[in-house]
Amino acid sequence: MASQEVLRGVPQSLSAKFVGSFAYLTVRDRLPTILTKVIDTIHRNKNKFFEEHGEEGVQAEKRAISFLSKLRNELQTDKPVLALTDDGEDTDVWNQYLQRQQALMDEQEPPSWFKSPWLYVECYMYRRIQESILLNPPICAFDAFREAKTQSYFESQQATMAICTYLQGLNKNRNEFSEEQLLNQFLTLLQVSLWGNKCDLSISAGQENSQKSSPVDALGELKPYILVDDSSSVWSVLTSGAAPGRSATGRGRVDIVLDNAGFELVTDLVLADFLVASGLAKQVHFHGKSMPWFVSDATREDFHWTVKQTMAANHRWMSKSGAQWHRYLKDGTWRYHDHPFWTLPHEFSEMAADAPDLYAALQTADLIFFKGDLNYRKLTGDRHWAHTETFARALRGFQPAPLCSLRTLKANVQVGLQPNQGENLTAQEPQWMTSGVYAVIQFSSPLREQ
Ligand SMILES: [Mg+2]
Repeated sequence: MASQEVLRGVPQSLSAKFVGSFAYLTVRDRLPTILTKVIDTIHRNKNKFFEEHGEEGVQAEKRAISFLSKLRNELQTDKPVLALTDDGEDTDVWNQYLQRQQALMDEQEPPSWFKSPWLYVECYMYRRIQESILLNPPICAFDAFREAKTQSYFESQQATMAICTYLQGLNKNRNEFSEEQLLNQFLTLLQVSLWGNKCDLSISAGQENSQKSSPVDALGELKPYILVDDSSSVWSVLTSGAAPGRSATGRGRVDIVLDNAGFELVTDLVLADFLVASGLAKQVHFHGKSMPWFVSDATREDFHWTVKQTMAANHRWMSKSGAQWHRYLKDGTWRYHDHPFWTLPHEFSEMAADAPDLYAALQTADLIFFKGDLNYRKLTGDRHWAHTETFARALRGFQPAPLCSLRTLKANVQVGLQPNQGENLTAQEPQWMTSGVYAVIQFSSPLREQ
């Protein structure tokens, strides 16, 4: 099967089977570290479980820890991937996906941590963490990453104050701005949201990684690190009005497929606020995760908690921003969605077939932002593409609407570069694809429907 894929011109998936690759190092070093931290966190919360649920809570804690220790051992000794045993709404889909992965393996080897696609096994690890919790009521609502996410939000307070002050300054004077000024403000907030993606706790294996300085001041220095900058295409979509044949009510919807909670989420909310306040969008739909995911990814609880905290802040412009966000959510200008597909291991090219309802919902957007590295990996299938391959081709037909990836590079897949650009970067800085130092604003649009 794998060789058939190569024949069809689709490159192989990144995988820990390539010894020494970033995927290999991640599976060997970073994933076990994250599991160890989850085990520690659950253990540290033992008293809380006892207070809430008595002895039953303590027993559940013990069982979850034993499950996770076993999982860590399976990972480290490259054991076969096991079927899920909980009764989550996505359990069957995961187990069917395991069958698909089995079909991709050479001969009769089972899918395993160091032999299967990296995207699959990394997503699978987070789903197994969820399994350890789901199988152990009464602690089945516990989010082992919440403390880290909360801490990341609080450690970025200075930067949050700065960006909220900037936003409120724009909103106060917005009637006086020329189109060029509006464009510059848009570019500023787009880049703030882009660089907000640096604050990712899965890449640092849970180490503190928050934004300290004012995000707007740093943008000039960061500009040379944006390898692909399609902002002008994004601006064209936002300012071009309704596409022909599209109903007026569908006009002006921007979707943001979120990555991390903490400071990054604040930057996404600020961008969304600006889009609505400036009239560039009528509605913003946010898409988050339906379970704790890749350490710092935003869930529904993180999303609402962030709005609440910002509203309650003892800082005039932060609380004003938070109150406005709360109003947008209340009156439906902003909507939050989660869909189980976002926490499946599937490449986005499989969405139309495997989650047609989500694909149809995204088709009603005028523009979709995909935040962060994992979304980029899923957009491109996490494959060994040549750097000069076009983004449109790497999407393999996934084009529900005009879309833009805002991503700092933390995995070794990057398409849409100029000839030799990747080679030159490798010569200067071998870790350019995984250091989180470089970024892209990469756009793709469906063929014009006329
Ligand atoms: Mg993330």
